[in-house]
Amino acid sequence: LSELTHLLNRLVGERIVLTFDHDPALRMIHADRRQLEQVIMNLVVNARDAMPEGGDITICTDNVQLETRTEFGRVVLPAGDYVRVQVRDQGCGIASDDLIKIFEPFFTTKRTGEGTGLGLSTAYGIVKQTGGYIFCDSIPEEGSCFSLFFPAHDRRA
Ligand code: ADP
Ligand code: MG
Repeated sequence: LSELTHLLNRLVGERIVLTFDHDPALRMIHADRRQLEQVIMNLVVNARDAMPEGGDITICTDNVQLETRTEFGRVVLPAGDYVRVQVRDQGCGIASDDLIKIFEPFFTTKRTGEGTGLGLSTAYGIVKQTGGYIFCDSIPEEGSCFSLFFPAHDRRA
């Protein structure tokens, strides 16, 4: 992740302050590095697009222990140890009607040519492939927080 900072800072431009809060004791994720970078980049670009006037984007990582998590009555994450990656912005937020659609392929609120609507559905697929899950909390006019959970593994697997 830290090798990404240079690229991400270039992506967001000068009006956005990007902060990393990386847990040095972070456990391992069984995922393709390239794909993970792609996911983080997508989330950061979305956060940037949500803040045309600028603002703060924060990326945090930590190890967390979860109880069983459900969504719409379905278990999406069994109880256990996870690596959490959160990308938070202070942008326009997402209307509650749209929140359930953002992970669908081709859902976009951007103008033709500006958004493909594929970023989040791709991210969703990549995170799920690792046995993890992705959640979005958002308040219109206040901002959004995307939380990615990956099953945690030991360094010597
Ligand atoms: P795209 O960025 O091409 O539109 P995505 O799949 O990345 O497609 O995102 C889908 C939609 O979700 C966006 O068009 C936008 O409406 C909404 N969205 C995603 N991230 C954010 C964010 N951080 N803040 C506000 N809206 C967002
Ligand atoms: Mg996008």
